[in-house]
Amino acid sequence: MQKRKISILGSTGSIGTQALDIIESSGRYELFALTCNSRIDDIVRQTEKFSPRFVVVSDETKYSALKSALSHTTTKVLSGMSGLVEVVTHPEVDIVLTSVVGNIGLVPTIEAIKAGKIIALANKETLVTAGEIIMPLARAHGSTILPVDSEHSAIFQCLNGESGDTVDKILLTASGGAFRDFTREEITHKKAIEALKHPNWSMGQKITIDSATLMNKGLEFIEAKWLFDVAIDQIEVLVHPQSIIHSMVQFKDHSIMAQLGVPDMRVPIIYALDYPKRFPNNVKPLDFMTLNALTFSKPDLSRFPCLGIAIDSLRKGGVAPTVMNAANEVLVDAYLKDQIGFYDISDSIQKVMAEFETISHPNIEQILWADQETRERVSHLLKR
Ligand code: NDP
Ligand code: MG
Repeated sequence: MQKRKISILGSTGSIGTQALDIIESSGRYELFALTCNSRIDDIVRQTEKFSPRFVVVSDETKYSALKSALSHTTTKVLSGMSGLVEVVTHPEVDIVLTSVVGNIGLVPTIEAIKAGKIIALANKETLVTAGEIIMPLARAHGSTILPVDSEHSAIFQCLNGESGDTVDKILLTASGGAFRDFTREEITHKKAIEALKHPNWSMGQKITIDSATLMNKGLEFIEAKWLFDVAIDQIEVLVHPQSIIHSMVQFKDHSIMAQLGVPDMRVPIIYALDYPKRFPNNVKPLDFMTLNALTFSKPDLSRFPCLGIAIDSLRKGGVAPTVMNAANEVLVDAYLKDQIGFYDISDSIQKVMAEFETISHPNIEQILWADQETRERVSHLLKR
């Protein structure tokens, strides 16, 4: 069997390294390209191990250092956005795993879609910021988008063999993040270092903070709307602290399908890559005898306003989700650097959204403009 060729955007991150781990043990893929932003020591090690045809470093200032570090290999080194676009559109590539963090994933994902590639989509910010454009674009170019996010992988699996008009609602589960059981007063004083202690998942810093604010669930709500083409009122968020049920679909006959498993991202990653097949892997199976209870509750939007803000942005439509997402990226970065407090994230997103003039049905240029403009406005706000 010929191995499928894969380009991994963001191979040095949490999803990227877990993908490499499971790809290595599967033996079913040939690594065509690996990319990083600036952690070149990591990508040098990955290149020596996997011998990809290309590596890309986004930070152009690291290009020379990476090139000389890899001079003993046959791997070609590229840099910047043009490098990312080259390795996702190359005619030999079959599948692209988009595991960069943030809106930086948008342009390479669009180019990969236009080239008709299979997209294993981890980079949820792409669908948040431009979902209205991405899904029709994929249909027009015959590009398949397969979700990697565990909740969306679960929903996708529950929908296998079902037609869209049989769905009553999507039940999107949430762990509740690091501050699930604290009062608003306690959360007010929480620093990033505490928010980074996620109870169930080990992930990159940005998404771990997003989990603590519940913005992650807001982004996933928007991601689900576009991926599964449902109405906003057909999505319900359930806090499920054990992270065993990764999400569910309730059908019109009130039958409910759920997908369960241990919280291990390697399962949804390899499911997207191998779809529609399934193969054995070395992830440990769920042991029901170790489970005490599976519990559920409603999310508390007064302690976690970001979830409500994200859903609100989806209702507003146009560039509102783009503005919300870009503001969140800048503010999470500031929170990680201890420059702002926990609730400054939601307060400032709301402020910036309220002042941003609407653009309905934006094109990609307008989305990129709104993203950039928001980043500038939030940076300005932070300086004040
Ligand atoms: P990480 O922060 O761990 O990794 C991010 C990756 O993107 C790294 O390879 C990083 O390179 C690269 N990167 C960062 N900034 C840029 C940039 N400006 N230009 C190009 N590349 C860049 O993130 P995660 O792996 O946690 O998350 C990746 C995506 O997957 C996110 O969209 C997240 O929401 C989504 N996701 C993650 C899950 C998880 O379990 N981690 C679960 C579900 C979804 P470098 O190493 O050089 O900095
Ligand atoms: Mg998720």
